[in-house]
Amino acid sequence: MKHQIVVLGAGYAGANAAARLAKRLHRADTEITLVNADPEFVERVRMHQLATGQDLKPRPLTDVFAGTGVQVRLAWVTAVDVDRETVDIVDADGPGEIAYDTLVYALGSAAADCGVPGVAEHAHDIAGKRSALRLRARLADLAAGATVLVVGGGLTGIEAATEIAESRPDLEVALAARGGLGDWLSDKARRHLRAAFDRLGITLHEHTDIAGVEPTGAVTAEGRAIPAQVTVWTAGFAVHPVAAATTLQVSTTGQIVVDDTMRSVSHPDVYAVGDAALAAGASGTPLRMSCASGVPTAYQAADAIVARLTGRPVPANKIGYTGQCISLGRRDAIMQWVTPDDRPKPSAVTGRMAVRIKETICKAAAWSISHPTSMVPVRRRHIVLADEPRTTTV
Ligand SMILES: Cc1cc2nc3c(=O)[nH]c(=O)nc-3n(C[C@H](O)[C@H](O)[C@H](O)COP(=O)(O)OP(=O)(O)OC[C@H]3O[C@@H](n4cnc5c(N)ncnc54)[C@H](O)[C@@H]3O)c2cc1C
Repeated sequence: MKHQIVVLGAGYAGANAAARLAKRLHRADTEITLVNADPEFVERVRMHQLATGQDLKPRPLTDVFAGTGVQVRLAWVTAVDVDRETVDIVDADGPGEIAYDTLVYALGSAAADCGVPGVAEHAHDIAGKRSALRLRARLADLAAGATVLVVGGGLTGIEAATEIAESRPDLEVALAARGGLGDWLSDKARRHLRAAFDRLGITLHEHTDIAGVEPTGAVTAEGRAIPAQVTVWTAGFAVHPVAAATTLQVSTTGQIVVDDTMRSVSHPDVYAVGDAALAAGASGTPLRMSCASGVPTAYQAADAIVARLTGRPVPANKIGYTGQCISLGRRDAIMQWVTPDDRPKPSAVTGRMAVRIKETICKAAAWSISHPTSMVPVRRRHIVLADEPRTTTV
């Protein structure tokens, strides 16, 4: 019997994990199955571009993984039984079950309404392809002078507001943020951000808590109405509820709690990567949900799985950050350099150079998915299923 590795989710984290496993384990004794609901790889970091009418390159997963040794299974994951080591799915043929020996859980995240009334009914989001396409259709319907309110002053809110304002200068775009605009950034980056908002004519509602969303706009905690024909909710991401419904140890956010090798602290045959994992970063603080964490956690998990199955030392590196790259439309951006634990350094790159850096990073991330095994050296090893090897930090 071959060792069955099942990877759930083919986003940045799951697709990279599956590819790396395929390059490192011998096909004679391993089978790798990648389960994903969407037939295409979804470039989530460009959802604000999709929502504003830009078209993204299609990347069908079956084409991408053809010949790599990874079997793509297009199916919706409905449940995981970590005690029986099975995954419940629904695909075109109806309900089914997949058994695993090792599971890599990478189902990512979706928009969270943060418990605010009216968000689910009246707000749009750009957390996924379907919702971004819904917003795209709604924006296309808006006449000149219509108002769009983006709620959330984080990276996604800033990218959404600037993208909408740049692509539709005929609309009145506003952003509501709980804090000050970009208040976590360096002085240089913050000044640049404010100037970009001024240039694009985006109205700011800073230090504003949104307590409700209605068909005609949002209402603040103080009861002030902010009228908008379209409200875009970017105030939070939440993980899919599948993990929390298992006996896996999960955090209050529903993320699977993992050690430095991305292995579940409660179930050694389960690994979690990307947004779905609660992993400690460089200074012990949790990694933020991002592509910047998703890819290194995928590599970490794949390398640890291979090491454990083939009886080699298990690498346990601390994952750290180098920068936060924020697009401000297509012609402007900020590259904020950060410490490994994500605190801003005084230096930042802005303008066209930052646009080039951001584009290079996004293209590289998508390229690595489209060519899943191209840059990974072939080191296909046989499984020995040795005793637990020691963990080393390399
Ligand atoms: C607009 C926007 C801009 C962003 N910009 C940046 C940025 O500049 N830099 C950065 O680092 N991060 C950015 N992010 C965050 C980043 O996109 C996510 O953190 C990243 O996509 C997480 O990767 P993942 O593989 O964990 O999950 P995902 O990319 O969400 O992939 C999860 C996969 O699982 C599949 N799936 C989910 N549920 C099921 C199910 N039940 N059954 C089967 N399949 C399922 C999905 O179809 C998807 O393919 C941005 C996000 C958004 C929305």
